[in-house]
Amino acid sequence: MTMSQANLEHLLSRRVLDMDASGIRRAFELGARLENPINLSIGQPHYPVPQVMKDAAIKAIRDDCNGYSLSGGIDALHEVVRGHLKHDLGWSTEDPEIGVIVTSGTSGALLLSAMALVDPGDEIIIPDPWFVIYPQLGPLTGARIVTCDTYPDFRMTAERIEPLITDRTKFILINSPGNPTGVVLDEGEMRDVAALCRDRGVQLVSDEIYDEFVFPESARPDGSCPSPGRHDQGTLVIRGFGKTYGCTGWRLGYAAGPNWLVDQMRKLQQFTFVCAPTPLQWGVVPAFDHDNSHQIEAYARRRDRVVEVLSPHTDVVVPGGAFYAFFEVPASLGIDASAFVERAVERRVLLVAGGVFSSRDTHVRLSFAVGEEILEEGLQAIAELLQGR
Ligand code: PMP
Repeated sequence: MTMSQANLEHLLSRRVLDMDASGIRRAFELGARLENPINLSIGQPHYPVPQVMKDAAIKAIRDDCNGYSLSGGIDALHEVVRGHLKHDLGWSTEDPEIGVIVTSGTSGALLLSAMALVDPGDEIIIPDPWFVIYPQLGPLTGARIVTCDTYPDFRMTAERIEPLITDRTKFILINSPGNPTGVVLDEGEMRDVAALCRDRGVQLVSDEIYDEFVFPESARPDGSCPSPGRHDQGTLVIRGFGKTYGCTGWRLGYAAGPNWLVDQMRKLQQFTFVCAPTPLQWGVVPAFDHDNSHQIEAYARRRDRVVEVLSPHTDVVVPGGAFYAFFEVPASLGIDASAFVERAVERRVLLVAGGVFSSRDTHVRLSFAVGEEILEEGLQAIAELLQGR
């Protein structure tokens, strides 16, 4: 006997019924139709995991490190993460008020932070355009999602956030370098956002999964990425290993910040994910010693090429980091981004329509985390489409 639609809706939670996955599904379906696609829709680097990390993960499996770890993560990884935070953000390795938790991907840290911070009816401020998980933190927790319109320059500044804060605001989520825009806030903007959150007593959560992908003109003089964590240790900094080291499938990230919050996230992890995959935690211990600056330089060159080819035909905000460009569909074409993406599919090019990441469907996300030849072929096709050819 099959369940009727009405019955299923009775059994399923409001939470899942309220989630709309059709945009992302559509992107996958379009791709599945193509035989030899020029795939510029991918959200992960195209290079392999460093050999030292593969070896460390394999060694851990061989050495029988296959059981649960402490729910907050293995000590060896905590040690290197704390060392990195000291070097990068100037955070003390000894300060008991700073907590670190190893999570199942950056996504795991985002979910745990939201679960630890909000009650139904509370408000979370997120950027528009957003990373796809952010709006879903609403149905997942019962919170109300308030979007911060960052068009046309995609900068989520204190000035834009301030009018959105109410007495129900619990936390503000920023993402720099940003997905889908590649925009990087500068040090002054970070300082202002951190100060605003501190003054108004709301928690700042900074999704820095692309922190290593920052191009020279957007980086600090020492090459590192601007972060509110340098201005306020009360910031919850969320970072990941997947993008930087090409191991998205390992599902490893971490959150670091005020221990009163990290401690609650640890408690939630104990009763949900239990711990992040143990052998793979061992796998990322050597990560911070690995220099992948040549990969980032290669992506900066691809970024230059994207801007060079597309900007004569449309508005494209120069990405300061990550590996995405978010370009506008010219009004002269008279179509929305979804229609543009369909046209691109006819030329075997896979892109993602802005409507997947935004309340507007006016822009298109292109990922340049691909080989140079593929990118070049895709760019030529997109340039022709932008000219209505
Ligand atoms: N945040 C942003 C901005 C992302 O782009 C992604 C991945 N696309 C994530 C978080 C999730 O990353 P992870 O695979 O580590 O869960």
